[in-house]
Amino acid sequence: MKEEADILIRKITVLDPAGSKVLHDVDIAIKDGKIAQIGDRVKADAAEEIEGEGKIAIPGLVDAHTHVFQIFLRGALSLKELQAHPIWLRVLIPFEAELTRDEARISAELACLNMIMKGVTAFADAGGPYPEILAQVATEAGLRGLVTHSTMDAGPENYRRTAHMNRELVRKYRKGRVRGCYSIRQIMTSTDSQIDETFKYAREDDAPVHMHLNEEVSEIQHSLSRWGLRPVEYLHYKGYLNSKVIAAHCAFLTSREIQQLSQSGATVVHCPAIAMLYMNFPRIPELISAGANVAIGSDGGSYRPIDLFLEMNIMVSGLTGYYGTPYHDFNIIAPQTALRIATYNGSKVFGDRLGRIEEGYTADIAIIDTRKPHLTPLHDPSLIPLYATGEDITDLIIDGKTVMRNRQVLTLDQEKILQESREAQLQILEKIKRIPK
Ligand SMILES: [Zn+2]
Repeated sequence: MKEEADILIRKITVLDPAGSKVLHDVDIAIKDGKIAQIGDRVKADAAEEIEGEGKIAIPGLVDAHTHVFQIFLRGALSLKELQAHPIWLRVLIPFEAELTRDEARISAELACLNMIMKGVTAFADAGGPYPEILAQVATEAGLRGLVTHSTMDAGPENYRRTAHMNRELVRKYRKGRVRGCYSIRQIMTSTDSQIDETFKYAREDDAPVHMHLNEEVSEIQHSLSRWGLRPVEYLHYKGYLNSKVIAAHCAFLTSREIQQLSQSGATVVHCPAIAMLYMNFPRIPELISAGANVAIGSDGGSYRPIDLFLEMNIMVSGLTGYYGTPYHDFNIIAPQTALRIATYNGSKVFGDRLGRIEEGYTADIAIIDTRKPHLTPLHDPSLIPLYATGEDITDLIIDGKTVMRNRQVLTLDQEKILQESREAQLQILEKIKRIPK
C-alpha cells in the first residue's frame, strides 16, 4: 500500500556521520516534519519530489556560535584595526550598540539568507542588540535558532543588558523553532550577581546559556585576579557547567579545564577561522578524546563568509598541521568527524532527535549536487567536507519544509535583501569610522 508523504527524495546518497553510515541510492520520505522512512524503493505519494541522483544528503549544518548583527562589518576593518585589543570590546560591541532597528533587520535578513544558501539549518546567536528582530526574521526564514540579548552589566554604559531581559525573551520564545536563551557575553563585562542570576534563571527555565569562554589571555588573567581561578575552573567551582552550556572558542584551556568541560556535558564551540587569525590552535583533539561535545561555529561571518564547509576545512587542515604533521600523525580529525561536529554535535543544543538522517528524526536536511568539476569523481562520499563548499548545497529542508529549492530561497526575498544591504552600506561605514579604535 502507498503511504502519504510531504516530500520524497529519490535515489540519493545519504551521509549520516553520527550513525557512521553511508547509504547509496536510497529514498527518503518526509512526513509531518520527520523522516518517516528511508529505504531502497519507498512507495509513497508525495506533494513534492526531489530527484536525488548525483546528489548527497547530509544532516543540516549547525552554526553553533554566530553574531548575526556583525555581518555588516565585512571588509570594513583593516588588519591593524583587527589588532585593536580586545576587538570585541573596542569595536564589535560599540558597533552593535549603534545599529538602528532597521539596520538590525536588514542585518538579520542578510545573515539568514547567507546561512540558508550555505546549508545551515540551525544557528545559535551569541547575543545582539535586537534578539526579537532576529527571532522574527529567522522564524519567517524557516530557520531553527537560539537568540539572546548581548548580556553584560559592566560593559559600555549604553549597551547594558540583564539576565532579566533574557528571562522575558526565554519565556516569550519557549516553543517552536526559534527560542530565547540566556547568555554571558564575557565574564569580563559581567558582575558576579549577573553571572549568578543567569545560571539560576537558566536552571529554573531549563534553557541554554551561551557564552564566550577562555577566548583570550586577558580574560584568563582577569579571572585569576578576580576569583583566583581560571574561567572554566570558576564555573566548575560554582556548579554552573552542564549540558545546557554553549561555550564558544575555549582557545586557552588547561588539562584540568578540558576534564571539567568534558565531564559536564557542555558544548564547546570551535570557530576555526577566527581561532587561526586571532587566538591559537585550540586543544580540540584532546577535548574530543576526553568525550566533550565539540561543535563548530562561524563566529558571525564578518571576516570570512558564513560557510561551515570552509570552517570544516580549516579545522581539519589547521589542527592536523599543528597537532599531527610535525609528528607524522595525519589522523587528528577525520573528515567524517568534522561533519559530525558540524551537524549532530551542534544540534544537541537545540533538543533531541536532531542532526541525523535516520527514521524518526526531525527532517533538517541539506542536499549537495556532486555533478560538478570539483566534486567529480568523489570515490568516498564521506570525504565531502574536504571538497565541497556551501555553494554546492542545492536544496535545504528544515522541519520537513523546503526552504531552498535548486538554490532558490523560498522564504526570503534575495534581491530585496541584497538591494537594501547595498543601500545601507554607506551609512554603516560612516558609523564604523566614528568608532574610536
Ligand atoms: Zn563570538
